[in-house]
Amino acid sequence: MAFDVSKIRADFPILSQTVNGHRFVYFDNAATTQKPLPVINKITEIYTQCNANVHRGVHYMSNKATEAMEDARKTVQNFINAESEREIIFTRGATESINLVAATFGRQFLEEGDEVIVSEMEHHSNIVPWQLLESQNKAKVVKWAFDDRGELNLAELEELITDRTKLLTICYVSNTLGTINPVEQIIEIAHSHNVPVLVDASQAIQHFTIDVQQLDCDFLVFSGHKIYAPTGIGILYGKEQWLNQLPPYQGGGEMIETVSFSGTTFNKLPYKFEAGTPNYAGAIALGEALRYVSGIGLDNISKYENQLLEYATDKLQTISELRQIGTAERRASVLSFVADCAHPFDIGTILDKMGIAVRTGTHCTEPIMQHFGISGTVRASFAFYNEMEEIDILSDGLKRAIKMFK
Ligand code: PMP
Repeated sequence: MAFDVSKIRADFPILSQTVNGHRFVYFDNAATTQKPLPVINKITEIYTQCNANVHRGVHYMSNKATEAMEDARKTVQNFINAESEREIIFTRGATESINLVAATFGRQFLEEGDEVIVSEMEHHSNIVPWQLLESQNKAKVVKWAFDDRGELNLAELEELITDRTKLLTICYVSNTLGTINPVEQIIEIAHSHNVPVLVDASQAIQHFTIDVQQLDCDFLVFSGHKIYAPTGIGILYGKEQWLNQLPPYQGGGEMIETVSFSGTTFNKLPYKFEAGTPNYAGAIALGEALRYVSGIGLDNISKYENQLLEYATDKLQTISELRQIGTAERRASVLSFVADCAHPFDIGTILDKMGIAVRTGTHCTEPIMQHFGISGTVRASFAFYNEMEEIDILSDGLKRAIKMFK
């Protein structure tokens, strides 16, 4: 399919607004993405045509909602090429998915003195859950540092792995540096030491094709809202052999087989990990979002977004006052930078006055800021509905902002 951005933009009504009297330029896609009409319409359709609590009903409407939710599970399964739909757990988002693994893996497999390797470029949501285990004397968090370009060194990983290493957790793409980590090689190294790997795909799933069987990752997480679906829905993929060994995370309805005061037995996968009424509307809308993305084609998306990133990188390099943070060889859709003459927050505020939405601050990655000795960055992050012309607008806006602060 030919890639027609103006046609695509017509699917995203929010993009045609004006902000502060200017064209709305949305470059905060790493924080959350805008929603296309098929997803918005799907939410209306759910509540007008198929709303009833799932799994428990004998009636028509409950069965219709259940079928739609289970259909969405299959869509997710196909999207990441999981072997079985039992390996797809609906959660609240990447944060909940990581907490689920940390809590249950910790309870089942970790003892005092064990180690979990966590890269220095992780989002807080992939650091703090492991530190919570540390505070319970369950495991020591071992930092895998990156270099000044924002790249991890595989030889260093070999040195970090010990016979106490029980898990390695790594982002596929850094939300601050844009680095695409060589997760396939990382997993190979970890597996050669019998160490399972959790991949945080929050900033990867929307940008290129992921095949969990090819990667051979043990767990993979992402949030729906970063891939054009609503907030409050996310995915935990886990190899069935792992999920079967983990204890339940939360207790409640649907995750049980039988309950009595003399003992309770638990439901089979995936329901063992889905306590309570699930966000079935979110799950169904996520299925629709993945169909939408597949309709455009992830290969087309990757190609176009790489062009955007390249154009933006070149353009911003012509502004001598800016220093790029994160210069790894392989990057995806994220451009972070600082300027000596102005605080990121001030640059973001001026850009906002011009209708340009960027994110400023630490991006929930304070260890990255500590590594570079900075308080924050300005981050522009791109999606397939962005246009080259918008990068020109950003570049002009930055020049004006810098002129004011100098
Ligand atoms: N990991 C990464 C790399 C992220 O970028 C984010 C969101 N910024 C998260 C995890 C957490 O996602 P959520 O807040 O949707 O749970």
